[in-house]
Amino acid sequence: MAPPHGDKSAKVKEEAAAAVSSVDNRPISTILFIVAMQTEALPLVKKFQLTEDLNSVFPKGVPWVRFYGVDGVGTVSASLVTYASVQALQPDLIINAGTAGGFGAKGASIGDVFISSEVAFHDRRIPIPVFDIYGVGSRKALATPNLLKELNLKVGKLSTGDSLDMSPMDEASIIANDATIKDMEGAAVAYVADLLKVPAIFLKAVTDIVDGDKPTPEEFLENLAAVTAALDRTATQVVDYISGKCLLEL
Ligand code: SAH
Repeated sequence: MAPPHGDKSAKVKEEAAAAVSSVDNRPISTILFIVAMQTEALPLVKKFQLTEDLNSVFPKGVPWVRFYGVDGVGTVSASLVTYASVQALQPDLIINAGTAGGFGAKGASIGDVFISSEVAFHDRRIPIPVFDIYGVGSRKALATPNLLKELNLKVGKLSTGDSLDMSPMDEASIIANDATIKDMEGAAVAYVADLLKVPAIFLKAVTDIVDGDKPTPEEFLENLAAVTAALDRTATQVVDYISGKCLLEL
């Protein structure tokens, strides 16, 4: 979802695509939120008084930007919607806001909102030199030292895979990724953001403790509403902080 687009001319858009670095010096005006689930998105839609785009910029039949329909969970959906949204909206910044599982042993608790310093995949195992690194697809998020200081958010690495559960092999990769939180979209958003040279940050609120006692699906559903409310509060603070600033000030 994204705020209604301003009056950027085609020329300005072209220039923005060609010279991304010049964006660093001017106030951020367009932020693209990529949110996987309707429940996660609705508080933000309400908070920022976003309206549904009835003349969707997306192809007919897809559920994106319609605030009803099927949730788009996982990497395939996240990368497609990120690509299509960036093409359509040319944002200055992407915020991937959503929920995640947290590792208690790494200091995560239910309701914590993390900013991820780095994201990587944990279910793309390709044990061939060079392809192994491609599979892990580790990428750094936009550094936001001032934002972190101001909002006092927790920082941790995020590991992404297409399953809510955690197989022993996934667990080994998550440990290798040194991750504190695990989700199903972050690294896919980072991949597209990197391809299209749009800076991205990852705001993830912890719905379940992966190394705790409770079964993940139950714990996730039990905490989803309260945790998305916390995510909404933090996302609002983040947008308020960003307002009027340029990328280098974050
Ligand atoms: N819509 C389904 C499934 C949600 S999947 C349902 O309601 O049952 C969970 C979503 O929350 C994904 O978008 C994922 O990014 C995030 N998530 C929360 N906890 C997670 C965990 N432990 N592992 C992976 N993803 C998690």
